[in-house]
Amino acid sequence: MRLNNKIAVITGSGSGIGQSSALLFAQEGATVVVNDLQAEKGQETVELIKQAGGSAVFVQADVTDPASVQALVDQVIAQFGRIDILFNNAGISGVGALHEVEPDAWDRVVNVNVRGVFLPCKYVLPHMMERRAGAIINMSSCIAEIGLARRASYAATKGAVLALTKQMQVDYAQYKIRVNALLPGTIMTPFVENYLRTSYDDPEEAIEGLKKRQLSGDLGRPEDVARAALFLASDESSFMMGSPLYIDGGAVFG
Ligand code: NAD
Repeated sequence: MRLNNKIAVITGSGSGIGQSSALLFAQEGATVVVNDLQAEKGQETVELIKQAGGSAVFVQADVTDPASVQALVDQVIAQFGRIDILFNNAGISGVGALHEVEPDAWDRVVNVNVRGVFLPCKYVLPHMMERRAGAIINMSSCIAEIGLARRASYAATKGAVLALTKQMQVDYAQYKIRVNALLPGTIMTPFVENYLRTSYDDPEEAIEGLKKRQLSGDLGRPEDVARAALFLASDESSFMMGSPLYIDGGAVFG
C-alpha cells in the first residue's frame, strides 16, 4: 500500500475528483480527512470509504475562511498528530470572456480557487516544516496553459495556482516538503456537468467539442486524476518538485 499510515487532507472531497481521490488514498492505506463546504456530500465520501473498509473523518470547512481552515488544521493535529499530505482540490468554475465577467463574480472565483489554496497551505505548512516532511498537491488545470473559450477568471486562477506551486517549492524544498500541481483536461464531474448545463444551449454538442480538444477523443474520469494525485502524494514521486503533471488526454497538443 502506497500511503500506509499517512494522514491526508483533501479539500473539496465531497464530489468529483476529490471524492475519487479520497477513496483511492484510503484504499492505499491513508487515513483521509475529507473536507467540503457541503456537509452532506463530505459525509457521503466518508461513508463510501468506510463501506470499503478504509479510514476517514469529515471536517466541514470553507477554504476561503481563515478561522474555518485554522480550526480544521487544529482538529486534525489534535486527533492525528500530523498531516503528511495536503491535496488542495476544492475549486469552482467561472464563465465568461474577460469583458463579460462582473467584478463580484471574478472575486468569487479568485477567492475559492486561489485563496482556497493559500489558506490551507498557510496553516498546514508550519506543521510540515517542523517535521521536515510533507507532500502538497495543488489543483491547477491545463486551461492555465492553453485557455478555453470564455473562462477568463478560471484560467487566471489556475495559472496563479501553478505559479504558486513553483514558488512554494522554491521556499519549502529546504524543509523536505514537495509541492506539485495537477493539470487535468476536461474530466466528467458534477463541476463540468453544471458548467455545461449553465453555459450552453446544447450541452451534448458542447461535450463533443470538448472531446475533440483532447487527442484521446474522449473526456477523462475522476479516477484518472485520482491516480495522478496518488502518485504525487506517494514516495513514488519523491524526485518531483514543483512539477506540473498533465492528465489531459493530450489536450495541450490538441
Ligand atoms: P466538483 O464540483 O465535483 O467538486 C468540488 C468540490 O469542492 C465540491 O464538493 C464543492 O462543494 C467543494 N467546494 C467548493 N467550494 C468550497 C469551499 N469554499 N470550501 C470547501 N469546499 C468547497 O469539481 P471537480 O470537477 O471534481 O473539480 C475539483 C477540482 O479540479 C477543482 O479545483 C477544479 O477546478 C479542478 N479541475 C477540474 C476539471 C474538470 O474537468 N472537472 C479540470 C481541471 C481542473
